[in-house]
Formats: sequence, C-alpha cells, structure tokens
Amino acid sequence: MISQSAIDTLRKAEIGARGLFIDGAQSEAASGASLPVISPIDGSTFASIADGDAADIDRAVRSARKAFEKGSWSRAAPAFRKKVLTRLAELIEKHVDELTVLGVRDNGTEIGMAYKAEPLSAAGTIRYYAEAIDKVYGEIAPTADNVLGLIHKEPLGVVGVILPWNFPLMIGAWKIAPALAAGNCVVVKPPEIASLTLLRLAELAAEAGLPAGVLNVVTGRGAVTGEALGLHGDVDAIAFTGSGLVGRRLLEYSARSNLKRVFLELGGKSPNIVFADAPDLKQAAVVSANGIFRNSGQVCVAGSRLLIQASVYDRFMDELLSATTRLKVGDPLDLASDVGAVSSAEQLDKNLGFVAKAAEEGARLVTGGGRILAETGGSYMAPTIFENVTQDMQLAREEVFGPVLGVMRFETEEEAVRLANSTVYGLASAVWTSNLSTAHRMVRAINAGVVHVNTYGGADITVPLGGVKQSGFGRDKSLHALEKYLELKTAWIAL
Ligand code: NAD
Repeated sequence: MISQSAIDTLRKAEIGARGLFIDGAQSEAASGASLPVISPIDGSTFASIADGDAADIDRAVRSARKAFEKGSWSRAAPAFRKKVLTRLAELIEKHVDELTVLGVRDNGTEIGMAYKAEPLSAAGTIRYYAEAIDKVYGEIAPTADNVLGLIHKEPLGVVGVILPWNFPLMIGAWKIAPALAAGNCVVVKPPEIASLTLLRLAELAAEAGLPAGVLNVVTGRGAVTGEALGLHGDVDAIAFTGSGLVGRRLLEYSARSNLKRVFLELGGKSPNIVFADAPDLKQAAVVSANGIFRNSGQVCVAGSRLLIQASVYDRFMDELLSATTRLKVGDPLDLASDVGAVSSAEQLDKNLGFVAKAAEEGARLVTGGGRILAETGGSYMAPTIFENVTQDMQLAREEVFGPVLGVMRFETEEEAVRLANSTVYGLASAVWTSNLSTAHRMVRAINAGVVHVNTYGGADITVPLGGVKQSGFGRDKSLHALEKYLELKTAWIAL
C-alpha cells in the first residue's frame, strides 16, 4: 500500500495542460480549446485537458483504422499482443502510486479504495486478457466428409470506448484490455471530469510497445466528442459504461449512422436483502454500509435499496447506523478517510436534490442528508439513510449515484422478491441468509446480473459483470467479454 508521505509528495505534482493522445503522440485539440480540471477535494483547478470535438474524433478513428489495416497489431501473433499487454500491466504496477494519486485528485475516490480498484485492478485485468488471448482457438465444424467448415475468430476493427468517472481505469481496462487483446484498435472517450489517468495509460501503452494508432484517447465533452464517436461511420462497435440516458443516445447514433454494435453497462438500483436468519447481522450491517457508502455511493453495483425482514428490522438498523456513523468522510488523499469526495459539485447538487425529494415524499431521514466539510471548498456529503421508503417514491425507483440509502421492510420471501424486482433496473443484488435453499431460490428469483450471497461486491475478473432490463446488455469481465470483441467468420471449403 502507498505511504502517506508518498501521497503527500505526489498530491503536489504539477500536471499542467494535457493534450489528446492520437497516433502515438500528444497533440492539442484541433480547435485549440481546453477544459479546466477541477479537483473535488478542494475545488481547485489543478490541470487542463484538451476539449476535443468531431474533428479530433475523426483523426483518432482514422489513425485507429490505419493501424488496424496495417496489421502490425490486428494480425500479429496473439503471443506478441500478450507480450506487449503484459509489459503494460507491469508498467502500470511500476507507476501505481503516481496513477492512484492522479486519479484521486481528479475524481475524489478515497485512496484506500482507489489504490486497489483503479491501477492495480486495471493491471490485473490487462494481464488476464493478455494471458487469455493465445489460448483462444477457432473451431472445425462437424460436417460431412466432403466439406471442411472452419470458424475463425477475428477482431471487429475500430472499437470506441466511452467511460464514466467513478472508476475510469478499472472500467476502462474491462473494455480496452479484451478489445486490444482480440486485435482491435481503440479510441477512448474518457469522462470529462476524470480523464487524466486514461491519458497516462495511453502513454504507458506506447512505452510498452503498443504500435501508434492502436490506442487513442480523445478527451472532451460527452455531448461533443462522445456523440461524434457514437455517430462515426467507421467505428465498428461502442463499449459504453454510464447512464441510461446516454446509453439510449448511443443506440440512436448507431441507428442513424452505420449500425455499429453497442454494448451498454448502465445504472442500477440494487436491492440488498437481509433475512432474519442472516449468519451475522453485525457483519452484514458493516458490509452493507460499505456496499452503499464507499466511493460516496458512486458505484454502479451499490446496494442502494436495503430490504430488511421485519423481525430483525430494529436490531439491523441499530447496527447499520453504528457502522455508518463510524465511517470517516474526508480528504480522499488521507489514508485515514473511509469515504472521500463526491466527484463534482454538480453531482453533489444532484444528490442533495434526491434528499430533498425523499423528505418531501415522506421518507424519514435517519442520518446524514447534507453537504459537509464545505470549508475545504471540496464536495463532501454525509452518508445518508432514509427509512419508511415506499415503492412509489423516487428514492426507491431512480438511481442516485451518491451516498444515499433507502430502507424498506418486508415480511415474507415472496414480498422481498417482489420488491427486489420492482424497478426498471437489474444490475446487482445481495441476499443475507443462513438457509442454503433460501439463498438458491433467491439467486433464481432475482432479476439481476449478479446476486451476492452473504457478502456485497468484490466479485473479481473471473466472473462477468453486467445488467438485465434497463441496466444494459453485454458483459464486462471474464472470458465471456472477449467474445464481444471477436467476430466469427465461416470458411466453407469443398474437399
Ligand atoms: P454519463 O452517462 O453521464 O457519462 C458517461 C460517459 O458518456 C462520459 O464519458 C460522458 O462524457 C459520455 N457522454 C455524455 N453525453 C454523451 C453523448 N451525448 N454521447 C456520447 N457520450 C456521451 O454517466 P456518468 O455520470 O459518467 O456515470 C454515472 C453512470 O454510470 C451511472 O448511471 C452509473 O450507474 C453508471 N455506471 C455503470 C456501471 C456498470 O458497470 N454498469 C459502472 C459505473 C457506472
């Protein structure tokens, strides 16, 4: 783990003006425009990024296409791609302290979480796909003797990757690593409020030996650069993580342009269900508090709806409150902070809007509910719990993406299932029970991409992540994710 003195040195590092990364080199945006980078830690402007537009996206896509057609990556032996990507993973690990602090200054995640969940997780993901790619075989079809049916697996071409700000490196790696391992060339559109680590990743990739044009990063505003990437006629696929609103736009852009495939990882309103026979209520309460409040609730799988069985409701709420009030919110670059800053002042305002609406609709505020540490100039919010939440309230239906938990009470397993499945989302969920049959029935009954049992979060790279219903489609992580970035081609040969 990084030391506090290393953090305190790195937090003062001069970042300056960062350009786009296209064709293996940094450059300004065509328009010359830039955007300030504001730290949610104290509201200070500590760097700037290029404010790209459609011309920059076009240059990046042309560079990616040229690299793809040249073939030095796309047609290279998978063993070569493995070597370069492994070197990239090593370089990330070598620069882990620098990347962690850079990312935290940008998006405010508490450093204890960012250290593992950002660069180290990204390095692990890149290594995972590097090691996988030279074990992917084509197939021979079971045909009659007079023909040979071969199934080849080929890269798609140019893949656009559009990312959210909560874990840009981790989520970026979930898409960039399998896309590159499969031989594609990539254009990344980072989130405008957390672009710095992805720009650094591209530099490290070049240092690792990735040929120019294979990985490009175009910073800028979503409605400009993101739209241009989504509409580009020479992009073969878009891999997206973010809101449902933008996800819908990307489907529209695809329909209006070249029918590029679109993979959507969207939001959630994940139910965390505590049965009376949970193995350890106290531990369940601690994990549940972490499961919603770490990274200020800015976690797509956050357990934002807590369903507690009536007979243990009061006991569990006591434990939950005590676990929540023990969480220390503060400077994300202080190793003692359990929860850092909300990613931006705008996001904080949005969270407070949800709080006001929940109170107006009749939910009861148990703790939190407001901005704290305003004197720092940063964006901090107290972990917030509402009880008496009912299904018709906004807090039960819409994703906050902030440290706000809505609590409901249930009597029976059937009622828990009905409540759990009653939103338009289906990303994650959890069940706490000692009864194996209850656990397995709930895993089957809950409509979500992941059901945790007696834990929350922490599922590693070996298993897929993604949603059902309006939480999206397509899966990140695991060997299944490679399939998204590989096209099947049939050779049918008369013998
Ligand atoms: P967002 O949808 O606002 O932005 C995501 C990305 O889309 C950003 O890079 C943004 O610049 C870009 N964008 C914005 N407008 C665009 C447009 N018109 N065309 C193309 N691109 C555009 O989401 P966010 O606020 O960055 O992230 C929060 C959301 O992401 C939440 O809903 C959260 O649940 C979701 N999320 C999901 C997962 C998952 O794995 N399912 C993981 C993390 C976050």
